[in-house]
Amino acid sequence: MTRSPRVIIVGAGVAGIATGVALRDAGFHDFRIIEKADDVGGVWQWNRYPGLSCDVPSQIYQFSFATKPDWPRVFATQPQIQGYMCDVVDDNGLREHLTLGTEVRAARFDGTGWEVTTDAGTERCDFLICATGILHHPNVPDISGRDEFEGDVVHTARWDPETETAGRRIAVVGNGSTGVQVATALQPVAEQLTLYSRSPQWVIGAPTDATQPRALTWALRSDAVARVAYRAGLASSGLLVDVVTKPTWRRRAVQSLARRHLGRLRDPVLRERLRPDYEPLCKRQVVSGGFHRAIQQPNVEVLRQGIDRFTPAGLVASDGHERAHDLVILATGFKAHNYMRPMQLVGRDGITIEDQWRDGPSAYRMTAIPGFPNLFTVLGPNSPIGSLSQHWAAELTGAYIAAWMRRWAVGAFDTVEVTQAATDAFNSQVRQAMPSTVWATGCDSWYLTESGNVDLWPFNGRTMSRMLSTPDPADFTLAGPA
Ligand code: NAP
Repeated sequence: MTRSPRVIIVGAGVAGIATGVALRDAGFHDFRIIEKADDVGGVWQWNRYPGLSCDVPSQIYQFSFATKPDWPRVFATQPQIQGYMCDVVDDNGLREHLTLGTEVRAARFDGTGWEVTTDAGTERCDFLICATGILHHPNVPDISGRDEFEGDVVHTARWDPETETAGRRIAVVGNGSTGVQVATALQPVAEQLTLYSRSPQWVIGAPTDATQPRALTWALRSDAVARVAYRAGLASSGLLVDVVTKPTWRRRAVQSLARRHLGRLRDPVLRERLRPDYEPLCKRQVVSGGFHRAIQQPNVEVLRQGIDRFTPAGLVASDGHERAHDLVILATGFKAHNYMRPMQLVGRDGITIEDQWRDGPSAYRMTAIPGFPNLFTVLGPNSPIGSLSQHWAAELTGAYIAAWMRRWAVGAFDTVEVTQAATDAFNSQVRQAMPSTVWATGCDSWYLTESGNVDLWPFNGRTMSRMLSTPDPADFTLAGPA
């Protein structure tokens, strides 16, 4: 018996594209990628704020099947990455599988597959893949008085290209990777820029504006060199895993880069104001070549305060002082643990994703959830943000899912559901590994779920490879065909 699964992939970012290519490589062509935005790219489509570039070198931040020799910069800009994602979709024949501008609202398991409700109606699939991203839902703080504010307010993840910035009194709220990039980019054009830096973050200096050396571009045009370079890039991200997961001298050496970078700030008052009270690398590390230069310019004020309220003219900081602003930029991050929600997911026996995740999101090896047969997540809970390559993790997960589908195609089962016991065992391994990571050294970050768990991958790449190379039927309940 051979049959071809009908598959719906939700999301056309890194995870959705990697999954589409994995299915195609496995010989499955009956799939649709449904994306609510009008273009592909995920975070690189939604985030368009001034100064956005990737703080991971482009030669690592790419798919293994689509290495690009000629990245213009060492750290590519948002339009360059967005353009790359479009090219990958076109070059890999995914365009015909795409449905853009359509939101998946709900999905219900019907005994053998999923009934998926979108803006456009309802359709059925055998497998549902949630590639819905992590940093997707903007965290918009509920600050009182916002309706009375006479200026403009924008969240960085929903940047309006019409937003006027030149000659304005700009407030940037938040100083994570985003706040640092947008403040650095807007300082030269702003009349006055105020950075509300409630909790300072460690910054590591890097040549984030550097162009990619021509000799490297030339060398990477050879496929053999490109393959070696890609593998070397992955291996270098393995060094980062070691640094963040083990408390060794190597971690201390990298942490000292952040301390030294802060030490080079000339203004001693500013230096102390920006000194975090936790270990470098505990939060997602901020990397910037221009931030310290920008914040020492005369039109910049850095506050170590949060916001108390809006007034018609501006913001009142938590020290009670009011400052006038024309534009308030909320660089306040994301609700990182929403995953596929607010999609209404109803699995076996009517169990909802809210029921299953009442103690916070969790999954078996990032990808399978008890109670939700024939559903997989790509870059789901415990994904390796801040250590391994996300592209690589997404490709590996896509291939793992395709391996299950191959078994389905030959009639080995109709439904596959991970057991609660296997999921608990995986999560217990995660909990045991977490205390030695730098993320658990006592800072508040978006890595933490509401219940205080670190929602990251605490293992190395080899472990991920081993866990996702071959499906382990002992960890799953298989049913059918009748
Ligand atoms: P973030 O790291 O979560 O930072 C949010 C900032 O907003 C923090 O400084 C936070 O302060 C502040 N904040 C939140 N609510 C506030 C309030 N009510 N009043 C005052 N301040 C408030 O968010 P992000 O900077 O958007 O970065 C999120 C992640 O996106 C990064 O960690 C990274 O993974 C990714 N990213 C990557 C790149 C890249 O180049 N690859 C660029 C940008 C972002 P507290 O810390 O005090 O809460």
